[in-house]
Amino acid sequence: MVIYGLRTHYVITMGYRVECIRCGKRFSGDEIIYTCDRCSGLLDIKYDYSGIEAERIVKAKGRGVWKYIALLPFDVENTVPITINEGDTPLYRCHRLGESIGVNLWVKHEGLNPTGSFKDRGMTVGVTKAMELGVRGVACASTGNTSASLAIFAAKAGLPCYVMLPAGKVAMGKVAQAMMHGAKVFSLMGNFDDALRVVRTLCDEEHLYLLNSVNPYRLEGQKTIAFEIAEQLNWEIPDRVVLPVGNAGNISAIYKGFIELEKLGITNTVPKMTGIQAERAQPVVKAFKEGREDIIPEPHPETIASAIRIGNPVNAMKALRAIYDSGGIAESVTDDEITDAQLQLARLEGIGVEPASAASIAGLRKLCNMGVIEPDERVVCITTGHLLKDPERAIAICEPPYEVPADIESVRSILHETGSGERREEVIYA
Ligand SMILES: *Cc1c(COP(=O)(O)O)cnc(C)c1O
Ligand SMILES: [Zn+2]
Repeated sequence: MVIYGLRTHYVITMGYRVECIRCGKRFSGDEIIYTCDRCSGLLDIKYDYSGIEAERIVKAKGRGVWKYIALLPFDVENTVPITINEGDTPLYRCHRLGESIGVNLWVKHEGLNPTGSFKDRGMTVGVTKAMELGVRGVACASTGNTSASLAIFAAKAGLPCYVMLPAGKVAMGKVAQAMMHGAKVFSLMGNFDDALRVVRTLCDEEHLYLLNSVNPYRLEGQKTIAFEIAEQLNWEIPDRVVLPVGNAGNISAIYKGFIELEKLGITNTVPKMTGIQAERAQPVVKAFKEGREDIIPEPHPETIASAIRIGNPVNAMKALRAIYDSGGIAESVTDDEITDAQLQLARLEGIGVEPASAASIAGLRKLCNMGVIEPDERVVCITTGHLLKDPERAIAICEPPYEVPADIESVRSILHETGSGERREEVIYA
């Protein structure tokens, strides 16, 4: 009782509340709830922006996600974050790739987060919230990176962790992380959407805390991508941000971050939010092209970009609002276009990403070719996960090593026959 009283008290003093995006119903910060109990709409965290000075963001001290605690749903004085130094990722100016596409390009490499994907930004906030709520364990469904990240933060927090993966469809590096860091891993004979359905019921029944991106606290952490981009560009907002869309949480979160900078008077515009999906898993793109507010789920999503192999994205409504309100666009790309973009990022810029991340570059190239994106635009692409998450795919799309006897003559002859960088199959096995 005393604890409840204290919590209610600081929820008010901290100036945030939880609110349904559809019907506006409000909830307090100490309720465990993921969607509105009246209309089943998505929830959003709202702040009293008049009580937050711009200086606390622009001149924030520290690094990464927690540097922006003034815009996170926590008590600044009394919160002990569960952190492994997430965020603070580089924003690379990419002249070579930008020239090849015909646009001014920057890449924000979220694959350089501690567990290798942007999911860490959401998980540090989500698991810190889990500790504050005093839950007995955490759980998620995952195409891979969510489970890897949750397993690691749960380990750090000392919480039991349960993850549901679609059998045979998760990249090797991600499963390895979840297993290594002590999560209880379930491999479900279904796709991600099936796994999410199962874990939502499991969480209700077993009183576990659900840390998929339907949990609004996760998106609060992920919105710091916007704050970092703005800061790294000296608070000059880019014309456009392009990123892959799976469950559609990240595009919603980043848009929210840019809106908040505007609300605080730090910036005066927002970038056109541009979401890219795979051709055979594109419910958000289809909804956008038909001008709808919500998606029609796709029962059999398929793509080599396993992180965005999702047919029923839970955050679709938030994502579509972000795209419409910012004047953005949604487009799809083929697996071949994704593979080309993955190789271009690797070889023109030295940026190693997993396939889903390359969808952003593939989509940018397509939209530039279509004339939708102008050559003078300043574009930031988000690369969401690291190359080593999916080593099997990298090996499958690259030339194999030359197998040769360990003498200089053999190496020299292949080197001279093939020229620099160029390789011919017949030489390899000659
Ligand atoms: C989770 C993930 C995505 C998709 O993000 P959503 O928020 O689900 O749209 C894209 N790429 C990678 C590497 C991911 O891990
Ligand atoms: Zn509602």
